[in-house]
Amino acid sequence: MDENLLWYEKERILRTIKNLKKNNMEGYFVEDEKELLKKIDDILTFKATVGFGGSMTLFETGVIEHLKNKDYKILDRYKEGLTKEDIKKIYRDSFFADAYFSSTNALTENGELYNIDGNGNRIAALIYGPKTVIIVAGKNKIVRDLKEAENRVKNIASPINAKRLNKDTPCAKIGYCVDCSSKDRICSHFLVTARQNEGNKGRIKVIIVNKDLGY
Ligand code: SF4
Repeated sequence: MDENLLWYEKERILRTIKNLKKNNMEGYFVEDEKELLKKIDDILTFKATVGFGGSMTLFETGVIEHLKNKDYKILDRYKEGLTKEDIKKIYRDSFFADAYFSSTNALTENGELYNIDGNGNRIAALIYGPKTVIIVAGKNKIVRDLKEAENRVKNIASPINAKRLNKDTPCAKIGYCVDCSSKDRICSHFLVTARQNEGNKGRIKVIIVNKDLGY
């Protein structure tokens, strides 16, 4: 890649990390998956109970597999053979996890997280419950501001996710949002995480990988 473009993208990531800190969230830069897994090991120095929010990025980067191979108690929502009730229980138990892993649908240069959720369990855990929340995001999730975040989620992340999940929604057919009322609608809750208060300073940690990851 052109070195000027590389410089521009790295500066953008560093600016975002600086602004996350202003909003009482930790931010870290890593080059690739290897550095990402090392950073996670550096953060999780204790014998943790670990939960996950739904995320392609966590699969793509090998984070879930990596954690399963460590000595953590995993609240595994992906385990084969789980009933709907089992999964609901895991969602609830995840509120008491030591560490909760997720990605974010968008991340503004001002250091804000923007997420949508159909069920709400992921963004509920992001707001309150787990002791630590570790967000893993590719550089493609960074946007200028909240307006751009909303646009990104409605017209990129949601249509692709609806398609992936085989949902019967307009966006899964035409590739953009028409603010539908379909039974299968995947976006019910919209969350801006603008700041962590002083009591929760550093609870949310955002690891930005210098690669395009997830949707
Ligand atoms: S409101 Fe409907 S069309 Fe728009 S992104 Fe959500 S599911 Fe897709």
